[in-house]
Amino acid sequence: MAAWLHSTPSAGSPNRPRQTSAVPYFICPNCQNRSFDEDGREGLSHQARGCHECGFGFVFQLLEDYFPRPGAGFAVCDSEARVIAAGKGLFEVTGRLEQTLIGQDVRTALALTFAEGEDPVGTALEWGVRQLDKHATLHHGAGIDKQLICDLFPAYDDDGGLLVVVTPV
Ligand SMILES: [Zn+2]
Repeated sequence: MAAWLHSTPSAGSPNRPRQTSAVPYFICPNCQNRSFDEDGREGLSHQARGCHECGFGFVFQLLEDYFPRPGAGFAVCDSEARVIAAGKGLFEVTGRLEQTLIGQDVRTALALTFAEGEDPVGTALEWGVRQLDKHATLHHGAGIDKQLICDLFPAYDDDGGLLVVVTPV
């Protein structure tokens, strides 16, 4: 039997161009509630789609469903990596209050250092591709260094931006 019959297809191109997804998955940056826009109607409107669970002002669109790890904290950034919102749980992970983070570059605001000098924040913004399982060190507000896993998701709307998920290891 030909071996190629059993080969698994290669994963999608890592350089997938930025585009509006036809698969409408959403996650709330605040309460992390996941939702699926079944008829696509809400996604077509230009009005911000809020969270049905907690009432947060908008939900973040993902290309694929995503299950945050327990204890994760979310931050939403604009197209220049500046924090525009912090979700529930971010303070527990980072020791920093939302008002001290808003408007600052997420990398400096959280004092993040990525393994091997990587910059997955820049990569996600520049290439529009998600960056998963990136190890980082965070300098905690309480003065200690914490090991984290970061997952980063580019925004697919016209404004661009980034969802940053940090989870203690
Ligand atoms: Zn919510």
